[in-house]
Amino acid sequence: MEFLAVNLLQAGYPDQVVLREIRFELQAGQFLAVCGRNGSGKSTLLRALLKLLPHLKGKIYLAGRDVFQLKAREIAALTAYVPQVTEPVFDFSVEEMVSMARYFHQPIFFTRLSEADHEAVREALFLTETDHLRHKSFNHLSSGEKQRVLIARALAQDSPLILLDEPSSHLDLNFQLQVYQLLRRLQKEKGKTILVTEHNLNLCLPYCDRLMFLKNGKIVASGQPLEVVNKRVLQEVFDLEVELRENSSTGLPEISLIHHRERD
Ligand code: ADP
Repeated sequence: MEFLAVNLLQAGYPDQVVLREIRFELQAGQFLAVCGRNGSGKSTLLRALLKLLPHLKGKIYLAGRDVFQLKAREIAALTAYVPQVTEPVFDFSVEEMVSMARYFHQPIFFTRLSEADHEAVREALFLTETDHLRHKSFNHLSSGEKQRVLIARALAQDSPLILLDEPSSHLDLNFQLQVYQLLRRLQKEKGKTILVTEHNLNLCLPYCDRLMFLKNGKIVASGQPLEVVNKRVLQEVFDLEVELRENSSTGLPEISLIHHRERD
């Protein structure tokens, strides 16, 4: 079943249309990575899917429902958003941060959380291995810990689709891998549909079922990773000649940068 269907989407800001003619579908339980250069429109696409932009045209269907007809709370029931780990937040504890997700499930905001809410928070902390941090201030965590807590919050929201904006940025190699392995577990064990924007193609390639490349706000290639990752597409997307080699643990292609050395 297709969980997300986007047709002829045009999106942007009052002074600039960023995305044009965006058309794609994502099946329930699939993992899609959206890649492209800085400024190609990846974050704008996530904001568009959440109906957070002033300029939006076209069609977006979530679970068969027209997003333009849905209230923010109805969208939150279907889609959780994991922003980039950047700005400090108010001095919330980890448990408070994750619990916020449950307020979407309350009939009115700021009513007390039920035992089911607390259980959802406990499970999210457990799955992301952040339960030992629950009483710590979110602002005092390392970037890797913050990223896991933001994913915990998305999990506690209990929505079938999770959108993540560059989940590997600011993370060291170890945490990058941990985050993607966690996302794969959530996809396989919890049946989550996952959409990430990602800079690091070598990182996301082994985890995604589908890959979509954006350039200047348009889709330039989309499909299964092996169909779309080739030198010609990469040259077009990144304006850069690259080599491809085979990753020995996955057998999948991996980008190798070409460093031109100037002769003395
Ligand atoms: P990416 O995530 O691929 O780096 P973005 O979606 O952030 O790209 O940006 C795409 C374009 O939209 C850029 O030209 C950027 O300057 C513009 N843009 C991003 N955010 C805003 C904003 N809040 N207001 C106006 N223009 C924006």
